[in-house]
This record gives sequence, structure tokens and C-alpha cells, in this order.
Amino acid sequence: KAGVADLRLGMTAERKSRVIIAVGSGKGGVGKSTLSANLAVAMHRLGRKVGLVDADIYGPSQPRLLLTEGRKPEAEDNKIHPIQSPWGVPMLSMGHLVQPGQAIAWRGPMAGNALGQLIDAHWGDTEIIVVDLPPGTGDVQLTMLSKHKPAGAVIVSTPQDLALMDATRAIGLFEQGKVPVIGMVENMAGYICPHCGEESDPFGVGGAEAAAKTMGLPFLGRVPLDMAIRRESDAGNPPAAGDSPQAEAFLSIARSVLA
Ligand code: ADP
Repeated sequence: KAGVADLRLGMTAERKSRVIIAVGSGKGGVGKSTLSANLAVAMHRLGRKVGLVDADIYGPSQPRLLLTEGRKPEAEDNKIHPIQSPWGVPMLSMGHLVQPGQAIAWRGPMAGNALGQLIDAHWGDTEIIVVDLPPGTGDVQLTMLSKHKPAGAVIVSTPQDLALMDATRAIGLFEQGKVPVIGMVENMAGYICPHCGEESDPFGVGGAEAAAKTMGLPFLGRVPLDMAIRRESDAGNPPAAGDSPQAEAFLSIARSVLA
């Protein structure tokens, strides 16, 4: 698909410039932040020099997910330095710039400004910056498209109809901005009860894959609803850094994104 080919071009040795991969979703709570963090960690495990920017002004969760909560970036020559997470992924979050809760009052221009500080930081030899966008299609997304054009976008959705409809809108935004959509990831697909082992599908399964097919987009993989993912994520241990079957799910998605 065009998106993937473009991304490959962006990675060639002669074009040393860094590429941005945006992770978006139509609505909140579908696992966009979880996927962004684990995609970055998985790419690091695959040998890429990858950084993470948390542009979610409404609920910056990356400092918690990657264990850098409470740290403040240092500035040099009017630019900030990324914070090194323990997972091999340097990162910067809106949450590192403000006190908890403060970000919610931000207006468009301020948010755009802050996003610029995170993206134009001292990224050194980082080749890929994964950007965790806020959900939906607001100011930060527009600033991203106009000022820090991503090489490609990954869209996360649950298999649910409503989440998928919202995802379609997010895809439209990237296509309008001429950012190739690399593909879709289905999160929270299938649930295995930790007590009885019975498999159920709280949000259905396969909806995002079917939607991707309909829209002619690559399907990058699915991540099941797994209590261990939430538990480990909350503790700042990205599952992609471990050796569970879910780590393999994230590694496989990362391989598809980089393919
Ligand atoms: P978003 O960034 O889309 O708002 P999050 O990544 O913050 O969503 O996820 C919302 C909540 O769901 C978090 O508590 C997260 O740990 C949990 N979560 C996300 N994906 C999974 C999954 N596959 N299995 C279990 N819990 C998940």
C-alpha cells in the first residue's frame, strides 16, 4: 500500500531525516496510548532508534505508562532534551511540561506551541518518533498535519461499531492532510476470562479488520482485551518489553508498521 511504501522511503539511509508516525483514534479509551507506548518499545526491541511524543493534552498518560512520571525535561539552546525511559525509548509528554490536571485548560495555540516544543526537541539520532495524538480531530491533530507532517498514521479502534465510525473520521482527517494511513489496529478484541478460561467478545472481534478491508487499508494486527495489559501498563511495565503472548502481538504490529 502507498502508505507503507512512503514510510520505507522515509527510512532510507540517504534521507537521514527523522520520520513521525502518528497514532490516532476516533475516540478516547480505545487503547491509543497503550498501543503508542508498546509500539515504540517493540520498535526499540526490533533495533530501531525510536522516541515517543505524547501529544494527548487531555490526558497525557505516557509518563505513567513508561515510568517517567514527575520528571522534568532539561532545556538547552531553547530546546528541551527528551527524557530517557527505562525501556530504551526517549520520550516527551505534555505531562512533563505541566502540573497534573493543568493541561485541560489549554487552548489551541498554546497546545500547538507545546506540541512544537516536544517535536523540535534534542532528538539526536532518533530515527522514528511515535506520536500519541489526542483522540478525535481537533487543534493538535491539525497542527500536527500542517507543521509536523507525519510520514504515516496508525489508527486504533475497538471492534465496536461506534468506535469504528469515529475511526473512519480520523482516517478522513489524515487522508485530507495527505498523510498516508499505514493501517488499522484492532484493540480489545476477544477476552479470555482469567477465572474460568471462557473466551468472550465484549466488543466483538474482527470489526476493525473488516472495516480496514472495506476502506482498502492494511490491517496491522489485533491485541486482545487482557487484564494483564492494564495491570502491567498501570505499573509502568509496557507488555511489549516482556515475553508474554501480548508482547508478540505488539512486536508483530511493529513489524507490520516497519515492513
Ligand atoms: P486511549 O489512549 O485510547 O484513551 P488507553 O490506552 O489510555 O486509551 O487505554 C484505556 C484503558 O484501557 C487503560 O486503562 C488501559 O490500560 C486499558 N487497555 C488498553 N488496551 C487494553 C487491552 N488490550 N487489554 C486490557 N486493557 C487495555
